[in-house]
Amino acid sequence: MSLAYTQERAGELIENANSIKNKVHNLSNGKTTLVCVSKLKPASDIQALYDAGYRHFGENYVQELIEKAKVLPKDIKWHFIGGLQTNKCKDLSKNITNLHVVETIDTIKKAKKLNDTRKQMISEDPSNFGKVGVCVQVNTSGEEQKSGCQPGDELDELIKVILEECDCLEFHGLMTIGSYGASHSEGLNPEFSLLAEVKEHVISKFNLSDIQISMGMSGDFVQAIKQGSTSVRVGSSIFGSRPPNNGH
Ligand SMILES: *Cc1c(COP(=O)(O)O)cnc(C)c1O
Repeated sequence: MSLAYTQERAGELIENANSIKNKVHNLSNGKTTLVCVSKLKPASDIQALYDAGYRHFGENYVQELIEKAKVLPKDIKWHFIGGLQTNKCKDLSKNITNLHVVETIDTIKKAKKLNDTRKQMISEDPSNFGKVGVCVQVNTSGEEQKSGCQPGDELDELIKVILEECDCLEFHGLMTIGSYGASHSEGLNPEFSLLAEVKEHVISKFNLSDIQISMGMSGDFVQAIKQGSTSVRVGSSIFGSRPPNNGH
């Protein structure tokens, strides 16, 4: 996997990313993090943005992330944002020392698997491995095909387990993927409003000082920030459109 990039490609990526970063910064008074979503894009693209100062990158596929993390700088903060199968939690935990946050935890099983395998790595190699951040993915649209926990008892129980039984995980907050319909309508996005409400509920129920909410992509990050997003995940507006994801 080559990390070499052309000046032309770097210039294009940096111009795109800086323009998004400035919008994010201005809309949020510097409070919202921009995660550059690099799935299906070459490692050299990531290296180019890294060299321009970017550190937060998001990936959707476990094997692709492992391959990229192997060759790219170790101080990148990787966000895993893809659909996660329980049996892949171990691969994430074991292979990626600089796994910053897994944003798509939606079952107790996945949380425990991630925690247990990370605990093992920390005990084997404490100088390289540390705790992993997690967000709980919330299904705010009610669409059945969308993954994520339903707000209510299911969500509360999962967060309780993370906080009380997973000592190698750090609870960062909540994540949602907006439905196509809500992301393409004008005005307040009801799914983002719901996540902001759930955030307040979680803070008060578990007596937390503050938590993150990860919502907003290329098409709707401006609206998401207006509704309180602290982390936006932007891919195509930075890297251009993606190839069809054959093989995933
Ligand atoms: C691909 C993806 C993104 C980025 O989407 P763009 O529309 O390309 O900005 C954000 N979040 C998740 C969960 C994704 O899968």
